Amino acid sequence: MKLQLNDSSLLQTQAFINGEWVNGDAGETFPVSNPATGEVIAEVASVGAEETARTIDLAEAAMKEWKKLAPAKRSEILERWHNLIIENTDDLAAIMTVEQGKPLFEAKGEVMYGASYLKWFAEEGKRIYGDVLPSPGDRRSIVIKQPVGVVAAITPWNFPNAMITRKAAPALAAGCSILLKPAAETPLSALALAELAKRAGVPAGLFNVLPSKSASLVGGEMTSNAKVKKLTFTGSTPIGKLLMKQCADTVKRTSMELGGNAPVIIFDDADLDLAVKGALVSKYRNSGQTCICANRLLVQEGIYDKFVEKFSEAVKQFKLGHGFDDDATHGPVVSKKALADIDAIVQNAVEQGANVVTGGKPSELGNCFYEPTILTDVNDKMSIFGEEIFGPVAPVFKFSTEEEAIAMANDTEFGLASYVFTENLGRIWRVSEGIEYGMVGVNETAISSEVIPFGGVKESGQGREGSKYGLEDYLETKYICMGGL
Ligand code: ADP
Repeated sequence: MKLQLNDSSLLQTQAFINGEWVNGDAGETFPVSNPATGEVIAEVASVGAEETARTIDLAEAAMKEWKKLAPAKRSEILERWHNLIIENTDDLAAIMTVEQGKPLFEAKGEVMYGASYLKWFAEEGKRIYGDVLPSPGDRRSIVIKQPVGVVAAITPWNFPNAMITRKAAPALAAGCSILLKPAAETPLSALALAELAKRAGVPAGLFNVLPSKSASLVGGEMTSNAKVKKLTFTGSTPIGKLLMKQCADTVKRTSMELGGNAPVIIFDDADLDLAVKGALVSKYRNSGQTCICANRLLVQEGIYDKFVEKFSEAVKQFKLGHGFDDDATHGPVVSKKALADIDAIVQNAVEQGANVVTGGKPSELGNCFYEPTILTDVNDKMSIFGEEIFGPVAPVFKFSTEEEAIAMANDTEFGLASYVFTENLGRIWRVSEGIEYGMVGVNETAISSEVIPFGGVKESGQGREGSKYGLEDYLETKYICMGGL
């Protein structure tokens, strides 16, 4: 299938360095394929450590002028970038669907969501305030905020657009420059964003995209180069830990959005229909491949059977299909490897005693399709309780008391998103405060937007993205003492 775009120049396959499209020094490329069909869509330029080091130098030089620019000017440029993304939603979504697999309607949703970070930080960047502190008569103590410096970003394939704008927008708004290594599965969305950044007038060197078949070469340079002052990463916890270690030698600031093991806690007193709807959206969005996807459904014993019945009725209505099929509600997972990992988790759970209510196996539609799955007869002793599934598989656990639910929710090294369904006000507060998560959705699972601080605790990471807090991550606090007044 040929990718049809209104504007074919959005399909870029070279690296974007200092405002120019270039190949890697060695002239190497790597293939990007469509997970729905296995077809290779493009060969993309691959860069290594040396190109990364040069980009860092250029980004550092570009920042000198950018940080001095009036915040309103930076804002105008970000706003233009936002507008161009919105104008090109259809093409950006098509590029995303073809390289990532998600249905086109979901891809369009992500493009809008991604653009919202640019608009938000275009505004927030104008409101970077300092402080004048109470001081003795002969001196004044002042606090100013300054851009943290050159930012390196590494992003995953599950949100090939929004995970980039979420980092680039606050970095640029704060006065920083940024170089990005997108996931090798989905570099085309990143490169299309770069083309629009160029058209929007983002000055050369401020936003650079470094696709590579060797994440460790680019990541190694990004983390060891002293000119990079901050690393922002979204991805798995093991790689996040590795990158934090690599950043230790140059004491870089880091923001880490890592893995999750989100519980959806559904109490007997919940609005059942609302809970079913919330769990469906949270579990199966992007075919279960988001770090805030419901990973464990914890359902109280009195409502358990009714919940499973309604939930499975709804899941059986899903229509698995290619992202471009109009009636597809859910697409493939990202790769054959991802599919094998998901299936191994399910088969392992079944061996340990889980019951498959629906799904439980790869679909015959193609190499990367997995049937939406529900498992019952699972418990907290099984390995599936502690694993990040990252696929369309919902294990439904049973609990008796509120205390038990809180203990089960907290029995994980992760702490990103969590969800609670109950109509009891006291319980809402007790549970929200008692569970160790960066984000709690109460009777709601669609919790993310540009306005809120997205992020986790424990081994789910550190730092926040979006909201006024997200800008702080790109700013240094400087204290100036004026004496002898
Ligand atoms: P996932 O399992 O979701 O692919 P990863 O953490 O492996 O999660 O990948 C997230 C991002 O981290 C991707 O851009 C990937 O290329 C990058 N990455 C993986 N390994 C390394 C590494 N050793 N150094 C730097 N980046 C890496």
